[in-house]
Amino acid sequence: MSITTAKSQRDHLVDQIRQYNHEYYVLDQPTVPDAEYDRLLRELIDIEEKYPELKAIDSPSQRVGGAALKTFTQVTHQLPMLSLDNVFSEQEWQAFIKRIKDRLKSDKDISFCAEPKLDGLAVSLRYERGVLVQAATRGDGATGENITENIRTIKSIPLKLIGQGYPEILEVRGEVFMPISSFNQVNELAKARGDKVFANPRNAAAGSLRQLDSKVTAKRNLAFYAYGIGFVSEDGDSWLATSHYQRLRQLKVVGMPMCPEVRLLASANECESFYQDILAKRDSLSYEIDGTVLKVDDIELQEQLGFVARAPRWATAYKFPAQEELTILEDVEFQV
Ligand code: NAD
Repeated sequence: MSITTAKSQRDHLVDQIRQYNHEYYVLDQPTVPDAEYDRLLRELIDIEEKYPELKAIDSPSQRVGGAALKTFTQVTHQLPMLSLDNVFSEQEWQAFIKRIKDRLKSDKDISFCAEPKLDGLAVSLRYERGVLVQAATRGDGATGENITENIRTIKSIPLKLIGQGYPEILEVRGEVFMPISSFNQVNELAKARGDKVFANPRNAAAGSLRQLDSKVTAKRNLAFYAYGIGFVSEDGDSWLATSHYQRLRQLKVVGMPMCPEVRLLASANECESFYQDILAKRDSLSYEIDGTVLKVDDIELQEQLGFVARAPRWATAYKFPAQEELTILEDVEFQV
């Protein structure tokens, strides 16, 4: 492909991806299946890798999510909320491991914290002296929406942390999702009333959390699992474990819900069988997932590996093969 063809192909992809991002992140109304979106993004990344001069600073490959809705007050994240890079096959997973080992200049086994990839939306919960004071969506990674009142309606999220010894300021990061049973209930009720239905549980969770009236959110039976830590005040330095998995255990001890499928794996080799096990379990889980997330467990190694523009280098989503195409129900409108 000549650079001129590559440039025009890039422009076309950027326009398309921007439009899909807006529909997905801002309107909660995707019009193409995720697999198609992923394919376009991958095509753009391939062009940018081949012709680095075509990679613009504001390329969708360099950015997280979409802009925060102006109807909510905005929250500036003290630490950015990033996305994740993806791998789609064992070969790509092996290439990810190789990149990590090359960067660390070490061939030693690396332990991983292995987690299901929950299909909901990322939130950051800020606790000050143990009390939940603010909750925000990821937004574009730097600025999110203030959804504190809506988060307070999710029964499994503690308004006050348990015990003591936790840092003065502790930001908990995790996924708000709609369990499949709640999703079916909400849609059955909507159908019975002749209202719009949600396209999928992710869309339902996003639409329910970004409601201006928290009484509506309260009726939607949302759930939450913590999967990480954001900003922590200095007094937390001695409290925080040096393993990602142990940090999740610490969050559990102070009352945060944690996904029971999370495992600490001693080596990268064990990740492939974790992925296969979770894939086999997928249909029996009470919530929707679209892959696994594999994170280098040692925080010191995480720090050495650092970040690229939109994602950490120390983690990747190992995604399941595309299962469903976008459901287009002709006689029902989707709800935002
Ligand atoms: P992502 O969903 O690929 O990965 C990052 C997100 O994973 C995090 O923000 C977090 O919310 C979530 N996550 C779930 N479990 C996690 C765990 N255990 N640990 C850490 N994070 C976890 O990233 P994204 O940038 O939100 O979205 C990109 C995806 O959204 C694409 O893969 C694409 O399929 C889909 N998308 C689709 C369209 C469309 O039009 N169909 C448009 C935009 C994006």
